Amino acid sequence: MKDISDSDLRTNIPLASARPDGRCTPVRVGNVEVGGNAVVVIAGPCAVENDIQVLDIARAVKAAGAAMLRGGAFKPLTFPYRNERMYELGEVGLQYLRAAGDATGLPIVTEVVDVRLVDMVGRYADVVQVGARNMQNVPLLEEVGRVGKPVLLKRHFGASLRDWLGAAEYILHRGNERVILCERGIVAPHTHAPTSRFIVDIQAIPAVREYSHLPVLVDPSHSTFRRRYVAPIARAAIAAGADGLILDVHPDPERAAVDPLQALDYAAFGELMRELRGISSVMGRKL
Ligand code: PEP
Ligand code: MN
Repeated sequence: MKDISDSDLRTNIPLASARPDGRCTPVRVGNVEVGGNAVVVIAGPCAVENDIQVLDIARAVKAAGAAMLRGGAFKPLTFPYRNERMYELGEVGLQYLRAAGDATGLPIVTEVVDVRLVDMVGRYADVVQVGARNMQNVPLLEEVGRVGKPVLLKRHFGASLRDWLGAAEYILHRGNERVILCERGIVAPHTHAPTSRFIVDIQAIPAVREYSHLPVLVDPSHSTFRRRYVAPIARAAIAAGADGLILDVHPDPERAAVDPLQALDYAAFGELMRELRGISSVMGRKL
């Protein structure tokens, strides 16, 4: 592992590195600005399950103050075996997500996992997500670099900030200026329990600010993987200066098709949004 050097800043990440004035460059998505004064919360199901579900979730998260809707139509799972509930809807799921976004006015964020599907996902999505596992998938980074939509680039759980900004540089280098970073936890053997998943690198938030002008979000859902840890980490992320969050929300979390342990129900999401409003205002930001 190497520290970021002055020569890296000049020669390896000139497009991702911090501007002389030290300011973040906001990324505009429709009427939403990521990295501006307002804290941006993206919320929705891990996986799009059906049209009624995703519309219901879109309405609920919008009412609670979310600025964008998330949902996966292509899901990279840890194991290849799926039960009848762990389906991925593919293009039909993108259509349901798009319809829910249009009905509520929320821009939609969805993951692309396959270099062959970038154009198709880009036709539906307002923001194209590159997942943690694909952070250094160079062909995929190059494809999303020319898709003409903002990209949400998750940090791989084993990647340094240097690697992460290098991956962002690939997208910027292809001419796509709209890159949003997303911290989603790094690995260590375990913290307090062998079953704990990832450690949210809160320090990465001020470090991104120091080295890059790109906005940075945090995903407390896919990092902690446990519902009871989502709100504390979400609050910490905003207090540390993150530009926003991406969160799993589901009306009946235990029955979510994918990642049932981490989704917040509507009441818990509403309560968290109230808390985040308070923290944002202390930070001099709106929510
Ligand atoms: C997701 O956001 O649905 C997802 C799969 O995220 P990650 O790449 O962080 O695992
Ligand atoms: Mn998930």
